[in-house]
This record gives sequence, C-alpha cells and structure tokens, in this order.
Amino acid sequence: MAAKSPATRAVPSPLEWEYAPAPEARDILALEDRYGLYIGGEQVAPRSRKWFPTISPATEEHLAEVALAGPRDVDLAVQAARGAFEGEWSALRPAERAKYLFRIARLIQERSRELAVAESLNGGKPIKESRDVDIPLAAAHFFYYAGWADKLEYAFPNRKPRPLGVAGQIIPWNFPLLMLSWKIAPALACGNTVVLKPAETTPLTALIFTDICRQAGLPAGVVNIITGDGSTGAHLVKHPDLDKVAFTGSTGVGKAIRRELAGTGVKLTLELGRKAANIIFDDCALDQAVEGVVHGIYFNQGHVCCAGSRLLVQESIYEPLVAKLKRRLRTIRVGDPLDKNTDLGAINSRMQLDRIRELVASGEGDGAEMYQPPCRLPERGYWFAPTVFTNVAQSSRIAQEEIFGPVLSVLTFRTPEEAVEKANNTPYGLSAGVWTEKGSRILWMAERLRAGVVWANTFNRFDPTSPFGGYKESGFGREGGLHGLEPYLRFDR
Ligand code: ADP
Repeated sequence: MAAKSPATRAVPSPLEWEYAPAPEARDILALEDRYGLYIGGEQVAPRSRKWFPTISPATEEHLAEVALAGPRDVDLAVQAARGAFEGEWSALRPAERAKYLFRIARLIQERSRELAVAESLNGGKPIKESRDVDIPLAAAHFFYYAGWADKLEYAFPNRKPRPLGVAGQIIPWNFPLLMLSWKIAPALACGNTVVLKPAETTPLTALIFTDICRQAGLPAGVVNIITGDGSTGAHLVKHPDLDKVAFTGSTGVGKAIRRELAGTGVKLTLELGRKAANIIFDDCALDQAVEGVVHGIYFNQGHVCCAGSRLLVQESIYEPLVAKLKRRLRTIRVGDPLDKNTDLGAINSRMQLDRIRELVASGEGDGAEMYQPPCRLPERGYWFAPTVFTNVAQSSRIAQEEIFGPVLSVLTFRTPEEAVEKANNTPYGLSAGVWTEKGSRILWMAERLRAGVVWANTFNRFDPTSPFGGYKESGFGREGGLHGLEPYLRFDR
C-alpha cells in the first residue's frame, strides 16, 4: 500500500490531543502534622486550644492541622510586635533593615519550588502559575522594597518619614504568598512590625514563610503570623494597640472594618471587590485580544481581584471574537493543579464553588446564553468548567456582581463613549483593559475609565514598581511602587 502523502495524512486536530501527565514532584514539601502560631519568633500552641484542618481543594485531601487564634493569641501577637518595634527593630539603621529584606527575597527564591508546590496544593492554582507568577513576584516585592528601606528621605523629601508602629494585616486566599509580600515587604521597609493573618483556606505558604524569617535571622516579633478564620481577623482589627490596618478581601468585610476603625486614628488601607471591564475595539489584533481575554478571566480560575470578568466587545467584531473565544476555550486544560500542563486548576473552597454556582444559575435564569467547552471534571474536589455567557443584560447579576470564578460575561458597545459608560457602570473600579491599535484611543480611554489600573493590549500584568489599588467600592490606598510606602509612614512635617 502506498504511503499517504503528508498532505492527506489524517492528523488529529490539536483539540483532540491528549497530554501525558506531567506532575510536579511533591516530595520537596515536608509538611508538619500541626502548625502553631508564629509569635515572638517561635511557633507556639494557641491559647484558644483550637485547631482546624487545611486541605487540598483539588482532592479534599487533609494536609495539616492549623491553629485557630483567639483573642488572647491576637493580644500576644500584637504585644510581641509592639515589643519588637520599640526594641531592636526601630533602633536599627535603615540599611541594616534592608539587608533582612534582601535575605528574605533570596530565601524565597531558593525555596521557590517548595513554595510553589505548597501554594498549588493548598490553594488549587496551576503549578505553572505559582511557579512562574506568584513566587517570583513575591521575591521581587521583597527585593524592590529592600531597595527603598534606606532611601525613604529621598522618596519623600522634606517630609521626615517615620514608621507608624504595629500593622495588623489581613489577606485573602487567591494569591497567598504574593499578598503576604505586598503587605509585609513595604511595612518592614518603612520600619514597622506586623501581625499578619492569612486566609483560613490557604495558610501553608505563610507558615513556611515563618521558617524563612527564622533563616533570615529576623529579630523575634518583627513578623508574627496568626492563622484563623474571620473571627481571628475581627479580633485583630479591634485590637487597641495597632497603628495601622491593611486589608484585602471582600467589600462587605472591608466596610465593616472601616466602621470599626472610624474615629480611632488607626491608619487604614482597603483593597476590595471588583468587576473589571476588558474592552475590545474592532481595530485590535484579534488573536492577541482573545489570548488576553482568556488570560484576563481564566488565570487563577478567575480568583483574581482585577479579573477581566466583563468583556465589552465592539459590535462589529462580536461574532468572530466570540467564535474564536469558544474555540480557544476548548483547548484549556482543566485538572490537577500540580500537573505542569494544567491551565485551570481547582476552585479554592466548597464555599466559593457554591457562590459561583449560585451566580451562574442566576445568569441562566436571566436568559443569558451559557457556553462551556466539553471537559471532564475530576470527581473529588471543587471544580468548575471555564464558562462564557453571551447575551448578557447590563442589569444582570452576572454583569454586576463579582463571581470570582472562571466565568466571563460578554456585552457589546458601538462607540468609545458607550464603552466608557458601560465600563464605569459598576460600584467598583480596580482595573480595566483596552484593546486597540490606536495609541490616542488608549490614552483617551485611560483618562475616562474609573479604575486604578488600565492595561493596554495586555491584561493582569503586575510589577512591584507599579502602584495597584481601587476607586469607589474597590477600596482606597495603593500597594506597590513608591505609593505603597506611604500607607506605612507618618510624616513629621
Ligand atoms: P472572601 O470572600 O474572598 O473569602 P473575605 O473578606 O471573607 O473574602 O476574607 C478575606 C480575609 O478576611 C480572610 O483572611 C478572612 O479570614 C478575613 N475576614 C473575614 N471576616 C472578617 C472580619 N469580620 N474581620 C476581619 N477579617 C475578616
């Protein structure tokens, strides 16, 4: 039989290719059975005597027991931070302070594989994201703020910058180690000490970080890590001996914290909810835009505070764009977060999965059209297929409320003015994206969009030198860059 010519040989479509498993080895991670609280440079058992399990959302496998800090534990942690601030830490020369930050950055790099495995195991995110995004950016934040520690007088000339004292910091579960770095690096660079509470579903990298503090020889009490749930966070915020509170999380909790601190003189920054618009003009590079849309909403399962969850497409390219998007969705690989080929990992928790399901059901109820590519979801654990809604009304909950999952709502516009009006039609304003070939249009849009960050022909790009933060109900205060120092300083004149 004559061999088939290459032109006629049956080649499987790329959509049918199966990838062989490529799991990252777990043995680099040696988990303890139980983790206490990190207070005053030591792991201590909680006075509350309460513990809770931490699991892998991909398999529901039990990973370790973690302490649940009660009011007495919070008090001990704040006392330790106060003691360190008034003792060794505030007396240290700024250039010496910088050395600790550099050391921490180097140790994060050295232990990056272990940290990436822990992040993906505990949080459900694909290993290629924790390995290539979360952990390198966490190290970059410490490097960047190490550089500022002895240059504060230059950053704020003639204003005599001084540390505030003790900062209480509460972080969410979507980028656990990265959010820790956003909080701890600038606080320490400015000469403060901290008590940080990681989210209840993702404590592991913060607990490994306590070992990094020990390795770096950081003086006891400068960093204190207390694990727990919302009640621990509430005790921390109420503690009378804090000078500063920094919170990243939901708008509801952020509002409650602001009420709690009103009139107390405690300095506050909030990074809250969001419903970012990703705006596609008909003169954009369409294939690049489709990649940007996919990255904008399916990166980290859509558990991204600035996710491009509302896609605004110019009417003239609506059909080709949606067709390309659906085709691209079929190539997204959903599955084991520790597999190096996985694009979309597990949803972080049962609670979050329920929230996504409820909002998706409301979208279907409102008459929006749902598309999910065929994909096999694992039986155990928390999973949700990548989802696109078309025919979405502006008033629909899926266009207004934060879903915080891999769910995109597509709306259309005709003119730039209409795009701005629709993009700004939200109580939030953290980020936005604009896709167009015209530089003048990018600038025109950026001036009018009420969002802290506007990306042009890209999305979800982060850099420690660039300030990040919100408008309206997305909160206030900036993290990153020179701006990120200011919330941790007071000025003597
Ligand atoms: P999400 O809805 O994304 O889980 P939350 O705002 O509930 O966001 O959680 C973000 C962080 O805030 C977590 O560390 C959580 O434990 C903490 N938290 C929850 N409730 C409170 C509260 N009332 N006071 C302080 N912190 C809280």
